[in-house]
Amino acid sequence: MAVTAYVSGANLIASALYDLGVRVIFGIVGIPVIEVADACIEKGIRFIGFRNEQSASYAATAYGYLTGRPGVCLVVGGPGVLHAIAGIGNSTSNCFPLLVLAGSSESSQVHKGAFQEIDQVSILTPFTKFAGRPPSLSLLPSTLEKAFRLAYYGRPGATYVDLPADFIQGTLGTQETKPLYLASEAPQFAADMTRIKKAANLIRSAKLPLVIIGKGAAYGRAEDSIREFITEKSIPFLPTPMGKGVVPDSSPLNFAAARSAVLRTCDVILLLGGRLNWILHYGEPPKFRDGVKIIQVDIASEEIGNNNSRNAEYGLVGDIGLVMKQLSAELQDYKFPSIPKALIAAKKVNVAASQKKANDVVLPLTYQHSYKIIKDAIHATNTKPIYVSEGANAMDIARSAFDVEEPRQRLDAGTMATMGVGIGYAIAAAVACPDRLPVCIEGDSAFGFSAMELETATRSGLPMAIFIMNNNGVYHGVEPTAYSAGSENRLPSTALGFETRYDMIAEAVGGKGLLARTPEELKEAATTALTNGAVTVVNVIIDPGAKTKLEFAWLANTKQKAESK
Ligand code: ADP
Ligand code: MG
Repeated sequence: MAVTAYVSGANLIASALYDLGVRVIFGIVGIPVIEVADACIEKGIRFIGFRNEQSASYAATAYGYLTGRPGVCLVVGGPGVLHAIAGIGNSTSNCFPLLVLAGSSESSQVHKGAFQEIDQVSILTPFTKFAGRPPSLSLLPSTLEKAFRLAYYGRPGATYVDLPADFIQGTLGTQETKPLYLASEAPQFAADMTRIKKAANLIRSAKLPLVIIGKGAAYGRAEDSIREFITEKSIPFLPTPMGKGVVPDSSPLNFAAARSAVLRTCDVILLLGGRLNWILHYGEPPKFRDGVKIIQVDIASEEIGNNNSRNAEYGLVGDIGLVMKQLSAELQDYKFPSIPKALIAAKKVNVAASQKKANDVVLPLTYQHSYKIIKDAIHATNTKPIYVSEGANAMDIARSAFDVEEPRQRLDAGTMATMGVGIGYAIAAAVACPDRLPVCIEGDSAFGFSAMELETATRSGLPMAIFIMNNNGVYHGVEPTAYSAGSENRLPSTALGFETRYDMIAEAVGGKGLLARTPEELKEAATTALTNGAVTVVNVIIDPGAKTKLEFAWLANTKQKAESK
């Protein structure tokens, strides 16, 4: 008699994920997904267990961005899914690939008020590219393949698969299982040649062309062709916050230090993998010149013409790497003759002003001088950093203070300005880029959203250096006098505890904690944090009155609005 071999649902899921190339999963286990995580571990997939699904889902999105394939997040149903929605929103708004998997009710108990039951597929459908509940255990692997592929192909985004408890615990005869296939790279396409010619002519006719590099260019791994194009054509460029490093910040063609001046004056823009949303002031005056012509390159045709729609006719739909090759071929003999002297002068003035601020030694410490000390320590210790930054002023000022020389080496609050991504992102960065050290520049408020994930990092053996710019509050800080006896009930809404010892949280979970109030203390602490191979928090007590310098802030307009409210 023939003996039938069986495979458990949990093992089937683990094998499917392994076949799809998944080697790391971020999540939190509970009933009914413990078996799934354990089967994955047995299969050779690393499982990183978090303390809150929110951070786990953020970590998975960052891992997707850094590796160019969907990050996977595994959680329980009900509350686990609701917490993980944070990452789903983050993935959609940033166009990062993410696959979320969650346990769900036994098929026989659906709609009966089962354990942690909510209709996850219905809830997530509007926010995902695909959300499905496999109809049977035998169809579970192909549902996983579909969800993984849809997160990955086209414009990257979030997908979701329900894992019913009875499927996880069920078994299937091995003769019913089939291996999964997936093209190793997402298919790519180039732009329409008629439009390429039109774009090339526009660039030729420009009085001042400008390239704006967005995070889509970083995600699309288009750095080689963009670097070549910009250097050969000698065109000035501006990176968006996460587009930094696609072309090194140190390039003489980088006009980030004269951002407002170059945006006001350029008449033709080549926009690579960036949307004309709030980060780029909708491409509209007064930040942009009235009538500026924008050649937008994007993988999603739906994006072309969004805001400043008269530019839709110049849009190029295709993969940035391929489109850059097309444009280079069409502009072979072209070189921009000379960058206006006024722009070079504006850049010089702004660089000198920020250097002066960085060199100013005052106590309590300022953001600018603290960043100079940290930066010097990074150079002195030969650290290869991957920057993670969040917070309002802490992030704004850090963006220009820390140069980024390689693509995908800077993660921040992103398109949704999400606070709380920091430690999850740093964990993902440590796993995705083991040759780099996550260097986190965090506002004290932003850090608070995910402080417990320090334990995840220490338990997982993932060293990182975390600098907390502690000004006792959200946005600008709160002065010590506000905390005088009896005034607790009248603290401003932006207040946090006075000089909270965030460094001690690190010590409590097996990391290292250091406190720094002076330049000397910060220098020593930074050197330790960058070299000790541990999860280290440096609690930097800064001047609560230290405000952002608006002319350098990415967000000057938005922030003024917020502060005038
Ligand atoms: P930023 O915040 O840097 O301005 P956005 O997140 O607004 O960047 O925009 C990124 C854009 O890049 C998205 O519209 C996305 O569709 C696009 N994109 C992602 N990958 C590619 C690629 N390989 N080729 C072309 N466009 C891409
Ligand atoms: Mg603060």
